[in-house]
Amino acid sequence: MARILIVEDEARIASFVAKGLTAEGHQATVAEDGPTGLDLALGDDFDLVVLDIGLPGLDGFEVLDQLRSQGSRVPVIVLTARDSVTDTVNALESGADDYMPKPFRFAELLARVRLRLRQHDDSGSTRDDVLDAGRVSLDVRTRRATVDGRLVDLSAREFMLLEIFLLNPGQVLSREQLLDHVWGFDFDPGSNVVDVYVGYLRKKVGSDRIATVRGMGYRLVP
Ligand code: CA
Repeated sequence: MARILIVEDEARIASFVAKGLTAEGHQATVAEDGPTGLDLALGDDFDLVVLDIGLPGLDGFEVLDQLRSQGSRVPVIVLTARDSVTDTVNALESGADDYMPKPFRFAELLARVRLRLRQHDDSGSTRDDVLDAGRVSLDVRTRRATVDGRLVDLSAREFMLLEIFLLNPGQVLSREQLLDHVWGFDFDPGSNVVDVYVGYLRKKVGSDRIATVRGMGYRLVP
């Protein structure tokens, strides 16, 4: 169980995220404006903060900035507008650990939450920074992948693609989910970029390891 703070002024989104995290066994607290969120984040011992950008009182950038300048190292996942590349870049530069473009599916946020909690828990140890399925493994800190014990060189996009497969082993991931995770805000939904990159990744990890599920998407074969 982790203690997670959600700073989000849109009640619908806050409650959808809080319910989902509670169902996963976490303890969720919601703050509806920037100042309350900042107070809670500084005063309480949260394991993770999910932070919206557009907030009353103080916006997400100001909250993040004050949090970091007061020495808090709590992992922060920022909720950004899908069409705002600037927001995303600013958020990462202000010390956010990750971002989630809105709108998102809960499963996508949960994958990011799990990854951040795991990295934070085990800072210092490398073993738990490693995602693996069968003979494919990925060290999320050093960004190195190994296949059958052999080191494989991945581009940034290939890394993110393999990461989402490893976070969801055996599950079918749609092209849309893969686009969301890897390309986020700057993709053309009509393009075949996912298929092209799955092709690149197959060449590196073995073509039988990523199965095509006709009409649905792709699945990592554990
Ligand atoms: Ca908002």
